[in-house]
Amino acid sequence: MNSVVDIAGIFLPELPAEIVTLGPEVPERYHADWSGVERVRPLALLRPRTTAEVQACLRACHRHNLPVVPQGGLTGLAGGAQPHPQGVAISLERLRRIEAIDPFGLIATVEAGVVLQDLQAALRPHKLLFGVDLAPRGSCQIGGMLAANAGGQGVVQFGTMRAQVLGLEVVLADGSLLSMLRPLYKNNTGYDLNQMFVGSEGTLGIITKAVLRLHPAPAQKLTGFLAFDSFADVLALLRDLQHQFPGRVAAFELMWADFLDAVRRHVPVKFPFGTTPPMAVLFDIAGGNEADAAALEALLGEGFEQGRIQDGTLATSIQQAEELWRIRESVAEIFAQTKPINFDPSLPIPKVQEFIDEACAAIARQWPELPLLFFGHLGDGNLHIIADAAYLPAGDTEEDVQARVYAVLRGYNGAITAEHGVGSLRVGALTHDRSVAELAAMRAIKAALDPRGILNPGKVFAAQ
Ligand SMILES: Cc1cc2nc3c(=O)[nH]c(=O)nc-3n(C[C@H](O)[C@H](O)[C@H](O)COP(=O)(O)OP(=O)(O)OC[C@H]3O[C@@H](n4cnc5c(N)ncnc54)[C@H](O)[C@@H]3O)c2cc1C
Repeated sequence: MNSVVDIAGIFLPELPAEIVTLGPEVPERYHADWSGVERVRPLALLRPRTTAEVQACLRACHRHNLPVVPQGGLTGLAGGAQPHPQGVAISLERLRRIEAIDPFGLIATVEAGVVLQDLQAALRPHKLLFGVDLAPRGSCQIGGMLAANAGGQGVVQFGTMRAQVLGLEVVLADGSLLSMLRPLYKNNTGYDLNQMFVGSEGTLGIITKAVLRLHPAPAQKLTGFLAFDSFADVLALLRDLQHQFPGRVAAFELMWADFLDAVRRHVPVKFPFGTTPPMAVLFDIAGGNEADAAALEALLGEGFEQGRIQDGTLATSIQQAEELWRIRESVAEIFAQTKPINFDPSLPIPKVQEFIDEACAAIARQWPELPLLFFGHLGDGNLHIIADAAYLPAGDTEEDVQARVYAVLRGYNGAITAEHGVGSLRVGALTHDRSVAELAAMRAIKAALDPRGILNPGKVFAAQ
């Protein structure tokens, strides 16, 4: 089963021709996600417009044992949406209706292909916000974010996608429908099946709709960018902000000198300091009336006096806050300038610097020339590391570098991925985090929901 003719024979009698694109016609952009994995042309691309069409697609694939790769906005960094050469890709991009916004219940019902930025724009007139925000907001879709359990800068305040979900509609591998779109905050009637699909990276079912929790949007926010000499001083600031503004620290991002220098080299941003400090924090506080601003200035003033904060600026306009955020969100440009090996470990917050020092030493012993950039969502213990594989000697691979970093991580009780997921890039590393018993339970769930193993084979688990 691998010719265009066979595929046409399967799909064209059963599906509307407008939703089927056959192999050679599949545009390049569907051949891979953002992760830099090998580009693969699927046998066909299916772009259903309704849940019923998603069901029809999966029924046909199931009958013919065809591998199926769900695709959202293709911004994933783990190769999760990379097509299968002997299978089809199903893009959710045409399921992009925002069905309902309930400003009283603080709930939205959306189709899976809704782009994050479109949801944010639709919520603005209601003075509401969605709890998860990330840099590729103009492309990533709610379904992809759910399947990846995306995090981003708001996790310190609102949690990951997992915490935003009230109900899902999911099409299972055989085309049957699990409709769980209940607009309820509490429901203890049996198992919560919704959560099983969050973070499942397209291996258990295709998410077609979601009922999501919303939050009132603060009228203002306070944004600051501060320079530090030591990690201990950064931790002290995080603690002080959380005590001063309980539940209102909306972002707390830390960037180390090498990352800041890379931004200054490659991206035309306004940098607030004359020289690059050892580390810099970018934070948002939700709210920001006069009393908040005064309390923040007093808190920071004390930090300056005691020599804990070296330099800093508070945004005085939305435009200035956006310029400061541009520094942190320049990651896409840095990716473009490097041959990135991405890491996104999760660590106990106080241990982050110790882990960095040990990981740097371990890498330097083997590859003294390998550049490493560190930044991350410190408020929730999620570090990001970019290593530039262009500096690896011939014969050494990304997996060799991964093995070094993960060996250090094990000593910290960390997780190999806080956000990006396992996808295809980290399949070999799954055993670093998960015990034999956990792996067996995960495989049992997979076998129960997708007995033929057609959903995203080779992702999360090695292909069988
Ligand atoms: C510059 C940059 C910055 C980023 N910053 C962050 C960040 O701060 N936090 C973060 O968490 N991530 C971040 N990411 C990673 C990425 O944006 C997120 O993982 C995002 O949630 C992926 O959404 P997507 O729609 O692009 O999904 P895709 O990349 O298309 O797919 C992701 C996974 O979900 C599956 N999938 C997609 N749609 C569905 C569906 N409807 N049903 C079932 N499975 C589906 C795919 O098969 C794949 O396994 C960043 C990426 C880039 C390029």
